[in-house]
Amino acid sequence: MRTYKSRLRSYLAAGLVAVVLGMPVASQAAEVVNLYSYRQPFLINQFLKEFTKQTGIKVNVVFAQKGMLERLKAEGRNTPADAVLTVDIARLSAIAKADLLAPVSSPVLDKNIPAQYRHPQGLWYGLTTRARVVYASKDRVKDGEIETYADLASPRFKGKVCTRSGKHDYTLSLIAAMVAEKGEQAAEDFVRKLKANLARKPKGNDRAQVKAINEGLCDVSLGNTYYMGQMATNVKNPEQKDWANAVRIVFPTVNGTGTHVNISGAAITKHGKNKENARKLLEFLSDSFAQKMYAEQNFEYPVKAGVAWHPMVKSWGSFTPSEINLETIAKHRATATKIMDRVNFDG
Ligand code: FE
Repeated sequence: MRTYKSRLRSYLAAGLVAVVLGMPVASQAAEVVNLYSYRQPFLINQFLKEFTKQTGIKVNVVFAQKGMLERLKAEGRNTPADAVLTVDIARLSAIAKADLLAPVSSPVLDKNIPAQYRHPQGLWYGLTTRARVVYASKDRVKDGEIETYADLASPRFKGKVCTRSGKHDYTLSLIAAMVAEKGEQAAEDFVRKLKANLARKPKGNDRAQVKAINEGLCDVSLGNTYYMGQMATNVKNPEQKDWANAVRIVFPTVNGTGTHVNISGAAITKHGKNKENARKLLEFLSDSFAQKMYAEQNFEYPVKAGVAWHPMVKSWGSFTPSEINLETIAKHRATATKIMDRVNFDG
């Protein structure tokens, strides 16, 4: 068995930058749950505190920005982690594929979380959703000009589209959703035409595209909904308020069916020692109190029906989410990656 110090050395060697609360990460104590989180402290600390208050279960969190899968793989049976908290189906399904998650069966989770946002066998659970939408220039794009993602590939937007890399998880999930709904050929046609409409080679994050719209470089971009909230309320970088002001959110549909949504979610690890406590934590996170707080902190949508949206999120309007199970999207990810390569989307 490796010592704590040698484990720590190997995490550092793996380039994992983590802020650790409640060190050391214990794995044996009865009333404890150990969490690896890609979600930032400001998002989750408040409701974790409430969880401890209600249940007496202490939550130890290792915050990280990357390397979670590698770390879980390296730790194997010795992992201290009981549960993981992350964004994007791609990351959850990568951990599931590596056989590092335990299936959970819970009537509470099944009741609170719609089927499309949880793994069919309970390997992972969505806790908040975000839609991948079009940011459209208020000045240069009229209402009704965009109804489907395919509209971005129409001649109307020749040289007017900005987007981030085709290799990014967010882009790949959207294309995988298209493969699921419309088939590989239709998805590839779209990607080819979209590339032909780009104002510049894909670069930067979702917000950088909205900045480019504000600068007149392009008229439309693809981005996740919560970035609108992050820009509009940005105290640290107030110029982002101007970016947000230049655009409005349009909810396109894939095929007239619904808008592509992704999740932030949680899962219980295969080798964790506190599975009961981890299940209690997931159930708490799926319930109204945490749902409201969790979704509001980052301008996301709660998965539980009937939980109020943040007023700003509400102001963007309602939409119909695609009903495709996120697991189906995960299955088509490899095809989406091949399409992006064949089209040389970033090139
Ligand atoms: Fe993001």
